[in-house]
Amino acid sequence: MATSHGEHPCSLVRVGCTPYHRGMDRPPPPAGIEIHEHAPLARHTYMRIGGPAEYFATPADLVELERLMLWARAAAMPMRIIGGGSNLLVADEGVSGLVVSLRRACGGIEFTGSRVTAGAAVMLPALARAAAERGLGGLEFAVGIPGSVGGALQTNAGIGDGRCIGPLVREVEVFGGRGFQTLSRYEIHFDYRHSSLRGAGVMVVGATLHLEPRPTAEIQAEMRQLLEARSASQPTAEPNAGSMFRNPEGNAAGRLIEAAGCKGLASGGVRVSELHANFFVHDGSGRASDVLALMSEVQRRVLETSGVWLTPEIVWWGDGAPPAPFAGAPEG
Ligand SMILES: Cc1cc2nc3c(=O)[nH]c(=O)nc-3n(C[C@H](O)[C@H](O)[C@H](O)COP(=O)(O)OP(=O)(O)OC[C@H]3O[C@@H](n4cnc5c(N)ncnc54)[C@H](O)[C@@H]3O)c2cc1C
Repeated sequence: MATSHGEHPCSLVRVGCTPYHRGMDRPPPPAGIEIHEHAPLARHTYMRIGGPAEYFATPADLVELERLMLWARAAAMPMRIIGGGSNLLVADEGVSGLVVSLRRACGGIEFTGSRVTAGAAVMLPALARAAAERGLGGLEFAVGIPGSVGGALQTNAGIGDGRCIGPLVREVEVFGGRGFQTLSRYEIHFDYRHSSLRGAGVMVVGATLHLEPRPTAEIQAEMRQLLEARSASQPTAEPNAGSMFRNPEGNAAGRLIEAAGCKGLASGGVRVSELHANFFVHDGSGRASDVLALMSEVQRRVLETSGVWLTPEIVWWGDGAPPAPFAGAPEG
């Protein structure tokens, strides 16, 4: 589904209702906040692919964040939040509007008993390790997921055995057109690689999670095992964006892609990993258009061999209508 900007709704923070047009006159940016124009996004994504953001800012605190949001609203331009960039594919043409990193504004971790309150920009592996040092378990599964707390809450990040972030959540602090709000766990719905926060038009600024006491040595041993299993089964040394496609009900996307003979299939500088077929790896010379072409070819072959249409797990950022792999199953 496209918004009035032609964007996929899950990436946009709702700041205003007037459609934005590139080149439209807009109010000057807020004074005293460093805002970069035409900032390359490739360096902010795990895939190392993607064109520039029209504007890019890393506010120092929530006050600056609010001023940036008011500017985006006054200019009627889209505003997106980038976390770890580990689940993103950015168009070669880049994106119009403002992209914000919460790295400076939302980077804190605070423990209170068996609860931890973490800023949206805290990376899951760092949070899992900090909890382990305090003898708190529950986040072991997250040690190899290279996303931020805010990104993880959008997608209910988790691993194959069913462990995910949703059940740990007690409260989530969000910020949007209606200001700051604290949502309780009962106001948020989590399911497989999805949460009701996605598409809600708000950004996550922080979350409180409930953890369980567990000996540090046990937690660390389990985390080591999980990391070893990951490096044996996933192409961790090459740029990639994690799982490209969602697992269809009762099956694994990687298995279907392998069965369709796609391992090693390439488009430009991007190819289907030989280690794990649901990962695409980038040799440094690829473009988003290569990723899209490869996604389309994989979707076509899997549909032909298994009758299953693979839905992307990664998020697309681009202007205009979503490209073919993100536009849904073909008719008929
Ligand atoms: C090597 C590798 C392994 C991976 N393994 C796993 C795995 O085991 N399990 C798993 O679930 N995922 C996995 N992933 C995917 C990814 O790490 C997760 O989806 C992660 O939760 C994405 O978080 P992020 O901060 O990187 O989000 P980004 O990629 O930065 O953004 C993704 C989306 O979330 C939005 N977003 C980010 N932060 C916020 C915020 N604060 N408020 C509102 N919206 C926000 C963005 O606007 C965007 O729409 C893996 C990825 C890689 C590269």
